[in-house]
Amino acid sequence: MPLALVQIVYLVAAVLFIFSLYWMNDPKTARRGVVAGASAMGLAILATWFQEGVGNYVWIIVPIILGFAVGVPLSLVPLTAVPQRTAISHAFGGLAAGLVGTAEYFMHATPEHEKLTPFCMFALVVEIILGFLTFTGSLMAAGKLQEVKWIPQRPVTYPFQNATNVGLLALACLLGLYLIFQPVGIFPTLAMILIVLLALAFGVLLVIPIGGADMPTVISILNAYAGLSAVAMGFVLNNKLLIVAGALDGSSGLILSIIMCRAMNRSFTNVLFGAFGQVQATAAGGEQKSYKSESIEGAAQILEQANLVAIIPGYGMAVAAAQHRVRELYDQLKKRGITVKFAIHPVAGRMPGHMNVVLAEADIPYTDLVEMDEINPDMPQCDVALVIGANDTVNPAARHDKATPIFGMPIIAADKAKIVLAIKRSKNPGFAGIDNELYFLDRTFMLFGDAKAVVGDLVKELSGEGGH
Ligand code: NDP
Repeated sequence: MPLALVQIVYLVAAVLFIFSLYWMNDPKTARRGVVAGASAMGLAILATWFQEGVGNYVWIIVPIILGFAVGVPLSLVPLTAVPQRTAISHAFGGLAAGLVGTAEYFMHATPEHEKLTPFCMFALVVEIILGFLTFTGSLMAAGKLQEVKWIPQRPVTYPFQNATNVGLLALACLLGLYLIFQPVGIFPTLAMILIVLLALAFGVLLVIPIGGADMPTVISILNAYAGLSAVAMGFVLNNKLLIVAGALDGSSGLILSIIMCRAMNRSFTNVLFGAFGQVQATAAGGEQKSYKSESIEGAAQILEQANLVAIIPGYGMAVAAAQHRVRELYDQLKKRGITVKFAIHPVAGRMPGHMNVVLAEADIPYTDLVEMDEINPDMPQCDVALVIGANDTVNPAARHDKATPIFGMPIIAADKAKIVLAIKRSKNPGFAGIDNELYFLDRTFMLFGDAKAVVGDLVKELSGEGGH
């Protein structure tokens, strides 16, 4: 394929990548966004395939087969596992960038080394450091989210931790600087190997002090690193599509991280160095207050008498896969002429949009999903706030208790509703590890149990199959 044609196909792919992100903005066009993104990737592979100078096609075919073998099962994971699945994808992206960078270096580290100009070496070092740290960092993040036994969920801290981490990164950068001026020889080769090892170690050490609750934000930040690494790779390989796609990846990861941090009222530094979640054990072990429980029949009666019900879903609803039962409950209430709205917190669940995706699976109309800022003013008019597996996102302590790790995080004002019904399995705290003041209010009644089972029982009661 002539070079000009390859460049045109790359340009079309780049435009498709941009539209893909744009279409992802809205649930109505999201599917089109996915198709556009996949087509862009297909075009990029095809154009590369037909490019002159591709020596051995086996090296393209084998990775494609391997990619399918890993990618297809990964795409079949349940919705609740999507954050860790995404982390694994970033890990592969980082590894690919790191390996390509290392291969490029060793391929061109000949005595002549014309290609290893200072600019190329700079891009190579950036690509290798970011690629390998994204690889191990993302694997650690995926492990924490998957609650892998040998990876501690809580932040692990030790003296001089931040200094050690910054020191490791600084050492890798210094070695990189050395390589820019002295790219080949025995010492530069050793320096390159050391950079790879330091970046791998830094990825692990970066994530160890961060609690499981912050993993989605960390994944998003690592996404930005993977994107930047791809940009650097684009400069090394002189591939404009990689530069564009990497820049899109990097900037979208950064924007997503900013959105998450804002929704939690946290800063980047607080997420990366705050050891959020560490205070949990002590806070959770404090004085025991008492909850009021309610029976299924009692809760069904409360719901039947309401005019406006706000359902507030959280991670627990997603993990219990209760969305279809919730849809049935919605139908039962609507049948009685009750207005039902879903109050969606921007960081409910484990990734932005988590609730929207899960509820869409049960065909709950988008028009009844209301964002936090929009529904909060109406909460005092709400007869029942039905909290299903949500915790931190409805904890009033976020408004006034400076000692809690969620202080300042905007919350859904469930406490302003006339009655609160809360479904959860136990008295355990939420992800931030703190007691929830909402559950101790006079107007709050707990329905202890698995969300799917409890909502199912409520539906049976309301449909007259409850046997009471
Ligand atoms: P939380 O993680 O605070 O609480 C979930 C609750 O669900 C728990 O209290 C748990 O209680 C309950 N639960 C778990 N399993 C079940 C089940 N099978 N049936 C019924 N209840 C269940 O959830 P939220 O969605 O309210 O908050 C999200 C948290 O994640 C916030 O702290 C947020 O900052 C954090 N986060 C979210 C991000 C995002 O992008 N979405 C990004 C970064 C962080 P019990 O064990 O008693 O059942």
